[in-house]
Parts: sequence; structure tokens; C-alpha cells
Amino acid sequence: MEVQKAMPAFTPALTPAQEDELRQIANDIVAPGKGILAADESTGTMGKRLSGINVENTEENRRKYRELLFTADDVVSQNISGVILFHETLYQKASDGTPFLKILKDKGIIPGIKVDKGVVPLAGTFNECTTQGLDDLGTRCAQYKKDGAQFAKWRCVLKIGPHTPSYQSMLENGNVLARYASICQQNGLVPIVEPEVLPDGDHDIQTAQRVTEQVLAFTYKALADHNVFLEGTLLKPNMVTAGMSSAQKNSNEENARATVQALSRTVPPAVAGVTFLSGGQSEEDATLNLNAINQYPGRKPWALTFSYGRALQASVLAAWQGKDENIKAGQGELCRRAQANGAAALGKYTGGSESAAGGKSLFVANHAY
Ligand code: 13P
Repeated sequence: MEVQKAMPAFTPALTPAQEDELRQIANDIVAPGKGILAADESTGTMGKRLSGINVENTEENRRKYRELLFTADDVVSQNISGVILFHETLYQKASDGTPFLKILKDKGIIPGIKVDKGVVPLAGTFNECTTQGLDDLGTRCAQYKKDGAQFAKWRCVLKIGPHTPSYQSMLENGNVLARYASICQQNGLVPIVEPEVLPDGDHDIQTAQRVTEQVLAFTYKALADHNVFLEGTLLKPNMVTAGMSSAQKNSNEENARATVQALSRTVPPAVAGVTFLSGGQSEEDATLNLNAINQYPGRKPWALTFSYGRALQASVLAAWQGKDENIKAGQGELCRRAQANGAAALGKYTGGSESAAGGKSLFVANHAY
């Protein structure tokens, strides 16, 4: 009897052309010495940043501030390859009428978009959460791609406590990140996968490492289950550090070792790059830790760079103070931080770039974005 030939047991999720496009975008974002400016604070979070310098949280003030960031000297694009925007910002214009998107593109900076709709509680857990926004995500991604965005961000939050993170929260957050990543890729957007283990708590660095490894393992199992094309993704993790209220103080080298070990045990080499969040570290710590990570001699098959919000903007806000005459000073701070972190992404930061907010902790308890 003739044996029938087996049919392929799977359907490819993406065409080779779709894969090529995603791979290219991801690789461009993590080009050597470059990283991301996360400027996608939601309206509420931006309000908190602005209230710190006594500026009212109006649409016009948010626009003015983002104009300051995006019209900084062209030198910034030597170290900033991408900017993550909030929905409102994607469609705003500079005071001379030029769309922000055009300003960024003319600088060679790739625009990205935050597509999650914030965290919501997971009932029956110790205060854990998941992230919402999957409904209509496909439609929104298609529109954002048409309007010029090339990558997206979705942030999930995991908490370290005596009973957390739970199996439920690791499973759920891994799955929601995988569904998001799959939908982005179907629409030509590179997904930044962000499972942030919060630094809140008094846990030691060993605990942070163990939890980060578990969370990343759940995340990559889910991405595999959902046929996500890893070469067309970026990971945005926390660095592994002791909790913010821990008595333990670790060197940059110790943080680097724990971070690289955790990543090397859980993140497939196919992933295009790792773009760390700053997570409440001071500007200087975020730069020194990134530099130590790149100097660490362990196995590191991915680019290791930055996607900082607070650690790229604290000095800018402090210098600006909402005043037109300080715009240039604020832009100077952004260029300085970008250059320092670009050097750290190559393991070539030699210190001494301290800016207005230099060593100041940027920790916000139970940080929302
Ligand atoms: P921080 O660098 O301020 O932690 O924020 C980065 C970010 O985009 C979080 O989603």
C-alpha cells in the first residue's frame, strides 16, 4: 500500500518578506551605540512629571515638552535610534506646524507607539495585575503602521513579595505579551516585550535574579506558543538589582553579573536585542549598570542597550522648568544623557557625564506608566 506524504503540520505566521521587514527594524533600533528614548508617558504619568517642576498638565504643555525633546540637536541621533510615543504625541506638531513624526524621521529616528492601555488588577491575587488593551489592537496597529510607527511597546508588571509573583500572574502576563507581540507582527510593527519585575521591596539581588529568570521563562514559552518571530522582537526587561528598600548594596559589576546570567538562562539568542528600562535608578546608576553589563565577560548573543524614560529625562525636566529660555539647556541635558548611555551600550562609558539630576533616585513606588 502506498504511504501518503504527510502535509506540513503548521502554517507560517509571517511571510519571508514580513519577517525581513521586522528583522530590519529591530536591528536598526539596536545598532551599536544606540538605544531608545521612552517618551510615551500616559497623560496621567506626564502630569506627575510636570507637577514636579510646577508646570500644569495641559495638552499644550505636554506638546511643548515633547517638542523640546524631539528638536534637540541632531547629534542626539548618534545615540537615539528610536522614540516611543504616546497616542496623543504621535499626532502632534511642533509650533511651526511640522508634525513630530516628520521631525523624528528627518533625524533618522524611528517612531514607536505605546499600545497597551495600562494595568488592571488580577482578582484573587496579592495585589498583582495584568495589562489590558488587546481588544481592537489589530485595528490600532494597522492604523499606527499606516501613520508611520515602526515598533510598539506593551508593559506588564510583576511584583516581588512573599507570595508573588504567582503562577497565575506569570502565566497571564506571558500570554498577554505573546498575543500582543503576535498582533503587532501581523501588522508590521516590531513588538517591544516588557515584563517588568518591579524594584519595590526589600528583597536581595539573588531573589530578584530568580524571579526575573522565572518571569522571562514564562514569557518566552508563551512567545513560542504564539509563533512569535523572535528575530523581529525586542525585550525590555528590568536590570537585576536588589529591591529599592533592601539593605544590600551591590556594585555595578554585581548587578551586571546577575542581569547577564538571568538573561543568558532564559532569552533565546534569536531575539534581536535587549533594551533595558531604567526602573527608578538614578541617571548615573542606569548608565553605570548598562556599562558594566556590556563589559561583563559572560555569553551575550544580543545587543544590550537602553530604552529609558526617567533616566533620560529627569535632568531635562529639571533644566527646563517649563521656561522657554531654558529649552536649549534642557536639550543639552538630553544630548548628554544620550551620549553617556550610547557609550555605555558599547561598554565604553568612563563616567563624569553627571547631569542636573545625576545621582538622584528616580524611584516611584508601584510605578505606573
Ligand atoms: P523607565 O526607564 O522610567 O523605567 O521607563 C521606561 C518605560 O518605558 C517603562 O515602560
